[in-house]
Amino acid sequence: MIIVIIGATVLLGGILLWNKQKRPVPQEAEAKNLSVVATFYPLEDFARHVGGETVTVESIVPAGAEPHEYEPTPQDILRAYQADVFLLNGAGMDPWAEKIRPELEKRGITVVEMSEKTELLPGEHEEEGHVGEEESLYDPHFWLDPVAAGKEAEAIHDAFVARDPEHQEVYTRNADAFLQTLRTLDTEYRESLADCRLRTVVTTHDAFAYLAKRYGFETLPISGLSPEAEPTPGRLAELTVTVRKEGIKYIFFETLVSPKVAETLARETGAQTLVFDPIEGLSDEDRTSGADYVSVMRGNLDNLKRALECR
Ligand code: ZN
Repeated sequence: MIIVIIGATVLLGGILLWNKQKRPVPQEAEAKNLSVVATFYPLEDFARHVGGETVTVESIVPAGAEPHEYEPTPQDILRAYQADVFLLNGAGMDPWAEKIRPELEKRGITVVEMSEKTELLPGEHEEEGHVGEEESLYDPHFWLDPVAAGKEAEAIHDAFVARDPEHQEVYTRNADAFLQTLRTLDTEYRESLADCRLRTVVTTHDAFAYLAKRYGFETLPISGLSPEAEPTPGRLAELTVTVRKEGIKYIFFETLVSPKVAETLARETGAQTLVFDPIEGLSDEDRTSGADYVSVMRGNLDNLKRALECR
């Protein structure tokens, strides 16, 4: 009997203590949050992982919009001016942000330009057969390589610590956890793509060169480095021949870009279409369903395995 009473008391005490710990922390810390403005979604996602509850993060390019060729509004520029930390991709992905960078720095804002943190692949060559694209020196799509994404997370960590040393421990703990997730993702890609019948995928725009280089496959993009750069008829004819010759069964399209050309090529060759998402932005639907960089990368891997016919 006594044992039961003691047991019940201990249990009750435990429950009370647990309740006390679960009570929400007062909101006063919120006013001191580090304000982070990113140009587009991947940077927002990485900053959220590293900053956690200690930062407020927003993207300039709105959900569902394609960031290539995005023109910021005066309000967008104002939001950038009010940030503590401003994150941009560089290498021609967000040229408007490269332009305002000196002004932001003059105002004391910490600016991180990711193209300075990673090794870049060369951009568009003149003979590639796309209409309406200016020649770009570098390919800006490095965030699709999980190893490069890790370098971006490290650069974000360093900027947060420099700007807000009081929370160094939180930032370091968060960054370590996220880097571990990215290493796991890298391993999944490596292992899943180790034994495949095909080496080539057809993609909508030329966004996957870094990913392909990392995991040893080839991409044949229908359009150029920007989805606005439409293929010439010659390019389409050439792709049709390759798809038939190699027995490619899937043509990739993207969520933020019209699937029209991908569908035309698929119809022409008897292939099917599948999503390959360059994560240049999430649709509203993706956001509500709780998708993020890592979950979309895993979805891409599933579709890649199917398209490359991996065991
Ligand atoms: Zn792109």
